[in-house]
Amino acid sequence: MEIFRNCNLMYVPSLLIVGEKMVKAKSPSIEDDIKVIPGNSSLLLIAPHGVSTKPKDDINTDILTHEIVKQLGCCGIINDVFRKPRKMKGPNLENKDLNLYKIEQAQMHPTFLDEIRKMIKPPGKTLVVWIHGMKNSSAKTEAKNKASKFKGRADALHALIGFGQGDSPKTGEPKNSFTACKETANRFKNLLTEYGLTTILTRKNASNFRGRHEDYMNQWFMNEGYKRSQVESIQLEIREKDFRDTVDNLKKTANILSKALSGLVIGIKP
Ligand SMILES: [Zn+2]
Repeated sequence: MEIFRNCNLMYVPSLLIVGEKMVKAKSPSIEDDIKVIPGNSSLLLIAPHGVSTKPKDDINTDILTHEIVKQLGCCGIINDVFRKPRKMKGPNLENKDLNLYKIEQAQMHPTFLDEIRKMIKPPGKTLVVWIHGMKNSSAKTEAKNKASKFKGRADALHALIGFGQGDSPKTGEPKNSFTACKETANRFKNLLTEYGLTTILTRKNASNFRGRHEDYMNQWFMNEGYKRSQVESIQLEIREKDFRDTVDNLKKTANILSKALSGLVIGIKP
């Protein structure tokens, strides 16, 4: 829990990172870079939008992901440096304007994709979970939508799981492109909910949060020809209120995810 005592929610202190075997990716051209944490390769957690300085993208997903990786001893890749390009700005590696969840922009980074490839290398299967943060209003919108079939008050929904359900937002192709087995997605949903993060599988007709878009990293494994027997990939969206907003809530959320993931992945124990 040291990270939470030390952190001021602005950034993960770099000394602490080094002390805990979090190492910078080897990109000689980049001064401050994504953080790569080796560990049990049955599970890889990636925070693609965890930029730690303001304006942040998915607020505090860097701290959250680091804490879970630390608890579980699994593999982790944390981007606390690159920011999604703001309006009118194009992606730019040197300026640290890159959306690492977009395949085209992830390819502009010298080592990110290679680090992922290394961590999911056989033997053994890897579950990859992309840790994102959604707006509170997005959670409410999804809860209220009839197609979500969510029973309960709109503010009682905390998280969404995307694993390629529904049609392609890019081509309109009317079929699922599952990146994880349905059973895995359902079990993850149930475990998270049981431990206090009420989660649903994103409805098939949602415009976002389905992990279905071919141009985004959740589908990258499928695009690259990996089989689901080698890699399963899940996009997890966690709302900010009560789960990513304070030190205590980050601690609580990290514990929930750690318990759920250790229940889901064989050989992963906190
Ligand atoms: Zn995100």
